[in-house]
Amino acid sequence: MKIAILSRSKRIYSTARLVEAAETRGHEVRVVDTLRCYMNIVSHRPSIHYRGTKLELQDAVIPRIGASITFYGTAVLRQFEVAGTFPLNESVAISRSRDKLRSLQLLSRKGIGLPVTGFCHSPDDIDGLIDMVGGAPLVIKLLEGTQGIGVVLAETRQAAESVIEAFMGLQANIMVQEYIKEAGGADIRCFVVGGKVVAAMRRQGAPGEFRSNLHRGGSAEVIKISPAERSTAVTAAKVMGLNVAGVDLLRSNHGPLVMEVNSSPGLEGIEAATGKDIAGLIIQFLEKNATDKKTSTRTKGEG
Ligand code: ADP
Repeated sequence: MKIAILSRSKRIYSTARLVEAAETRGHEVRVVDTLRCYMNIVSHRPSIHYRGTKLELQDAVIPRIGASITFYGTAVLRQFEVAGTFPLNESVAISRSRDKLRSLQLLSRKGIGLPVTGFCHSPDDIDGLIDMVGGAPLVIKLLEGTQGIGVVLAETRQAAESVIEAFMGLQANIMVQEYIKEAGGADIRCFVVGGKVVAAMRRQGAPGEFRSNLHRGGSAEVIKISPAERSTAVTAAKVMGLNVAGVDLLRSNHGPLVMEVNSSPGLEGIEAATGKDIAGLIIQFLEKNATDKKTSTRTKGEG
């Protein structure tokens, strides 16, 4: 197969591993810098140009689109889709997953366990919002944050009110969430490929840190997940329309709660923690599914 990887650099661990896995399995693979693609929107033979020349039609495309370039990146990916290339994850599913609130709303519709989450516009409603999630302590999140940046634990009602007011004053979109204390600063990353959890790890925040992100100094270890956690992760990826997803769960007293579904989950942490060849499994998924050029995840009529 001809496989393109949309990524800013070949040197990024996940990109390098995907290249290696694809080449090992005999595919022709090319890393394409998303921001150097440009395109013509035409009804007859739409194409993608890259660094000045027309890109050959690819059988599959692996999007590794950073959060800061979601808009341009999903436009480029959509152009690959229009041209007939099979996307590992579809552009519409990626856009959906990048908005935390929209994702939670879609998941809630399917009855998936979630931390109680509140959203409001007017500063006059802050009091009601805090009550809605059960009062302090609570977590305040920027809707477009990643890697734990913009996730704040407010221990008291007063602290919550001032932080929410401050974010609102800056016109930032935030949501407020019940704090799952019993998770103990840990979460579970389930790596889903083609409707199966292929690997799982437990991430624990650094001492004194409630955020378990590896970028924030958290550590990871392999973990055995329960059947409920497994089915929650698989359903969450399906609802989002993602073939490959990193589903982050919190272990609460009342079962697994989905915190986030990541459409470009990193490979470094999970491969190191579990010793599994996740990149190889992703390429195998493409081998099975890219040939009919149809995406299996298209969700009709919903954002
Ligand atoms: P990001 O997308 O920036 O990583 P997350 O929503 O995943 O943001 O939050 C970062 C980390 O903070 C999570 O991995 C988790 O450890 C912790 N966390 C987030 N929300 C909650 C919550 N409601 N209760 C307890 N811990 C939380």
